Amino acid sequence: MNYKTDIGYRKEILTRLLSNIISYENEIVKALQEDFSKPAFESVVTETSYVISDLKYTIKNLSRWAKPKKVFPFVLNIPSSDTIYKEPYGKVLVIAPWNYPFQLALCPVIAAVAAGNQVVLKPSELTPKTAEIIETILSKTFPTNHVEVVQGGVEITSRLLEQRWDYIFFTGSVAVGKIIAKAAAKNLTPVTLELGGKNPCIVDETANLRLAAKRIVWGKFINAGQTCIAPDYILVHKNSKSYFIQFLKEEITKAYGENPELSPDFARIINTKNWSRLVEMIEDTKVLFGGKYTSETHYISPTLIEENNLDSLIMQDEIFGPLLPILTYEEETEIDSIISKYEKPLALYIFSERRSFCNKIIATHSFGGGCINDTMIHFSNKQLPFGGVGNSGIGAYHGKLSFDVFSHHKGVVKKATWIDLPLRYAPYKDKLASVKKILNWL
Ligand code: NAD
Repeated sequence: MNYKTDIGYRKEILTRLLSNIISYENEIVKALQEDFSKPAFESVVTETSYVISDLKYTIKNLSRWAKPKKVFPFVLNIPSSDTIYKEPYGKVLVIAPWNYPFQLALCPVIAAVAAGNQVVLKPSELTPKTAEIIETILSKTFPTNHVEVVQGGVEITSRLLEQRWDYIFFTGSVAVGKIIAKAAAKNLTPVTLELGGKNPCIVDETANLRLAAKRIVWGKFINAGQTCIAPDYILVHKNSKSYFIQFLKEEITKAYGENPELSPDFARIINTKNWSRLVEMIEDTKVLFGGKYTSETHYISPTLIEENNLDSLIMQDEIFGPLLPILTYEEETEIDSIISKYEKPLALYIFSERRSFCNKIIATHSFGGGCINDTMIHFSNKQLPFGGVGNSGIGAYHGKLSFDVFSHHKGVVKKATWIDLPLRYAPYKDKLASVKKILNWL
């Protein structure tokens, strides 16, 4: 079967992948638990179910997406028939991170296969159990000359990057994103870079503070804060600050109990390096709530931090852990100057009942995507593009866009032969005036 040209075969093999993922679901959840104590609920909602839904949606819509699309011809070319053909790029490299190690590896692979590409996937070495189960599932589903999994860390990835690829899809940090872009540039390989950043979360005076606190606690502490679109820091109006902090504390306790270390619903930090980085931030700052940690298990409790110093350690880079700095503002101009100090973020959140304020923030600041009165849920809508801008990434995917990312769109004009208007051909002589008239009229 030819996966490059046969849409029926692509659907068939993706259906096989779907049934293999469903039959391995328990093992996937177990692997995520072993890798970083990811709670089963979070594994199902943010990893397996997400991928299953993505696969079903892709299989259902694939024939329509792949179909050549007729477009209206340019007037001067009439009579002609103009068509956009979707062509697979060829050999695609997908490099995945560890924080949603199943979903962020599988979704790009599904889209690349749907679009007819050959794929090599390099999962994260920091979640070895999940990487192993991914390899088992993919090798059971695909011949290796169609989809292959290559395991390893920096050395292996560097070697993969020396090869020539037709497309590279990378999800990970800004620093490694730059390495990928540089390697891709050697062969002018197109890239998607899904990166990170410092995501602001604004809570204005009119916000429903109780609900804001609940939704922010959910978005910040799911996966122990190790989410690229988690709110990184809060900007709260000074009049709302004390109630809001009280509500945050209550919501953390409601979600994870008096001692979150005992909660089965709170994940651990991925490794000692990241754990130490976060502990250093806690020790550098004023803790309002939480601030507990245990080295053996890489535990860090949900922590609230009072911060108004942009030079502090925690306000330098993406936090990527369960620490939430709370900054206070009085004038709206302060919001703008704080956000503008950082690179364009992957996400931005606004909690407010004032439409004009929300519109102003959206119009003023450039960011990947976001929500008004919620956090992170923009990720779940297949109709919305997901991706960063500036330092938070290049390109976007999800839904049909994922298929388009892995397809070259080839525009072809089929010109009629039964008539041939003479206007464009030399000798031009006195044709210029007529051509100008027509072009001005268009
Ligand atoms: P990372 O950049 O350290 O690693 C990502 C991948 O790159 C891994 O597979 C790793 O093996 C490989 N890699 C690491 N160093 C490399 C090097 N020097 N050369 C070549 N390859 C290398 O990222 P991570 O720690 O796995 O993930 C966390 C980061 O990813 C955060 O910054 C987060 O914001 C970002 N992220 C972004 C998204 C998104 O959708 N935009 C999603 C998840 C995570």
